[in-house]
Amino acid sequence: MSGLENNERAGAMIVEQTEVNKCSSCGGNTVFDPSSGTLKCPFCGSEKEITTSRENTIELDFLQALEKEDHSWDDEKRVFKCGNCGAETLLDKDKVADFCSFCGSSHIAVTETHAGIKPALVLPFQITKDVAVEKFKVWMKKKYFAPSKLIQSYKLDHLAGAYIPYWTFDSQTNSSYVVQIGTYYYVTKTRTVIEDGKPKQVTEQARKIRWRTEHGHYSKFFDDVLVKASRNVASGLIDKVEPFHLNGLVDYKMDYLSGFLAEKYSIPLKEGWNDAKVVVDDGITSGIHGRVHGDVVNIVSVSTDYDSITYKHILLPLWISSFQFNNKVYRFLVNGQTGKVSGKSPVSAVKASIAVGIVIAIMIAIYFILKIT
Ligand SMILES: [Zn+2]
Ligand SMILES: [Zn+2]
Repeated sequence: MSGLENNERAGAMIVEQTEVNKCSSCGGNTVFDPSSGTLKCPFCGSEKEITTSRENTIELDFLQALEKEDHSWDDEKRVFKCGNCGAETLLDKDKVADFCSFCGSSHIAVTETHAGIKPALVLPFQITKDVAVEKFKVWMKKKYFAPSKLIQSYKLDHLAGAYIPYWTFDSQTNSSYVVQIGTYYYVTKTRTVIEDGKPKQVTEQARKIRWRTEHGHYSKFFDDVLVKASRNVASGLIDKVEPFHLNGLVDYKMDYLSGFLAEKYSIPLKEGWNDAKVVVDDGITSGIHGRVHGDVVNIVSVSTDYDSITYKHILLPLWISSFQFNNKVYRFLVNGQTGKVSGKSPVSAVKASIAVGIVIAIMIAIYFILKIT
């Protein structure tokens, strides 16, 4: 896929977004407006309030979900799969996708795949597309090692506003553990050394550890452990635009997705829990370390019951785009809530070697200054 094709495709994608609401004044398709938080008509400018609520405290039962697949989102969405990168995009039932917003490929087709679990909560976009572009430009100007002509000649691709899937898990954990606790003690040792050709007795303190084994129980409730459910957005980039402030989550409504894309979770619920369990287990280990006191503490074994596991499917906002320079495509992301940018950018070999040269020159200068004084 050439960069230019990507740009054209991305441009076409905008027509196929998830418009759901008709404007009451002119009949146009309204879209969610991040700056006002309303459904806005891009043709006549009229706005419709969205009644925002945060009541969805329902935690869904994890074990039940494993037994019976949840297809609750099927009533609203169809799944389009990209034949190139494999990303699954969710669109409203009456919409058609021509291009993949994750890679730009046109090998995208509607599937019979289930849309899956309807999200419980969504973090609505707060950063408009224009603001996202501004944030990107500021970020670009700070790329001091980029080639000088980058700023004048890069070509920005269309920005796709996409809601990215995450899982959050709760669990009451009860663990039995075995630890070895070591306490320091000192013994006085005498040994013979040779000093000025004569043997001499010296005494010294040697540190030893007295061990005892202890068994115990540790209980902790884990609330809203957040893990990614997307494989299609490079996690190295996504980690750098975090954090998302989750106190902004509101009950899921189709309105928030109007004009935006949603990605179907590519990390299934069960795998999501395995990822969350790593976080939970770390929490348990540090909890045990926090309560067992000794000079040295070794955790021998921990056996945990994860009770009442519940989950939520939530959507977080990302502007996804790329820019082109010298026929190469560089991906970048903008956090749709905070505007934080992360991305790849070209590095000028000349500028980088000049910088290395300057550093070496400074080091040599410091060496000589120190030598003289
Ligand atoms: Zn209108
Ligand atoms: Zn793709």
